[in-house]
Amino acid sequence: MGELQKSMNQRNNLLEERNSLIEKINSIKQDAYRRKNIYRKEQLSRPISYWIKNDRLLNEIGKTFTIILRTRGCSWALSKYGGCSMCGYYLDANNADVPVADLIEQFNYAFDDKINEIKKDTDNFVFKLFNSGSFLDEKEIPKKVRTYIYEKISKLDKIKEVVIESRVEYITKENLEEISEYFEKKHFEIAIGLETVDDYIRNNYINKGLLFKDFRDALKRCKDMGIGVKVYLLFKPLFLNEQAAIDDCSNSIQILKSLGVNSISINPMNIQKGTLTEYLWFQKRYRPPWFYSLFKCIKKTFDKGGLNNIRILSDPSGAGTKRGIHNCLKKKCENSAKTKLKNFVLTQDITELEQQEYECDCKKNYSLTKDFH
Ligand code: SF4
Ligand SMILES: [Zn+2]
Repeated sequence: MGELQKSMNQRNNLLEERNSLIEKINSIKQDAYRRKNIYRKEQLSRPISYWIKNDRLLNEIGKTFTIILRTRGCSWALSKYGGCSMCGYYLDANNADVPVADLIEQFNYAFDDKINEIKKDTDNFVFKLFNSGSFLDEKEIPKKVRTYIYEKISKLDKIKEVVIESRVEYITKENLEEISEYFEKKHFEIAIGLETVDDYIRNNYINKGLLFKDFRDALKRCKDMGIGVKVYLLFKPLFLNEQAAIDDCSNSIQILKSLGVNSISINPMNIQKGTLTEYLWFQKRYRPPWFYSLFKCIKKTFDKGGLNNIRILSDPSGAGTKRGIHNCLKKKCENSAKTKLKNFVLTQDITELEQQEYECDCKKNYSLTKDFH
């Protein structure tokens, strides 16, 4: 067989593999849609949630004010490609346009409720505005809503940093210019779900529909405008065992560091409802990562050249439960691991992960190579 024929066959096999992944994701979603909530008018004028908590800012320990808005949902998830294999956010979304007035009311509801608390607090704040999709996608958050929010937040001195999330296709020059107009004096960061630097894992196992080169272009556009980028890495995507997860994430951190990314948030897999991940987890063909692996990954990366000039964050959803990152599920073991991770994130001091105040027996059962255990 000639080289050209070989590579065409390889490409066709890849496409077929990917098509069957998309088919499976879509069929799982169809089932979940049947049980999904239909949101009433009153519910569309309230955010999904909002809260204040301690957090690590760029140069100090402070607080976060987070608001999660309910929108129509992520355009990638709503497309015929079905969205990412671990993402169940579509179940919280409205799946039909949410009127501008409702989006603004959602924001105001949370903002007005917390503004006095923020003003009275002695700490500085980072403001995170999430919508389980892309803040810069006009279909989800129209310009009128974006600029309304920018206007309000940019005037608050207590807020030193702002974070939003977006897929790279919406990180356009125009959208970045709009941000710069409002946030000359604050650090503005766009969080991008890159998940891994590996194109194969990202597109064939996660179904992200994103190439690394497009991420790099978006990163450059942000840098040129003085806007920071935070990258989300998915720790242990489907079809990777513990060792492969450690290697993939460590490699990703090193490459991103060399590209000058400011902060990386490691998101250990958590099993969300209505996803391919959940389907495989029910069948015992997937297990969320062990804390031991996450710590090994961070230490390994640190040993290979340190974590200077980069901020490693991780605030795992469902940590210590069977759907989230966990060890043996014994309370003492999970709490000890959660505390180590929290202290490491707050101080960025790697020795926090080496504290040995409690060593659990489960470490003996932990294996790097079994796919499910
Ligand atoms: S992970 Fe992000 S990009 Fe992927 S479907 Fe969910 S919201 Fe969309
Ligand atoms: Zn244990």
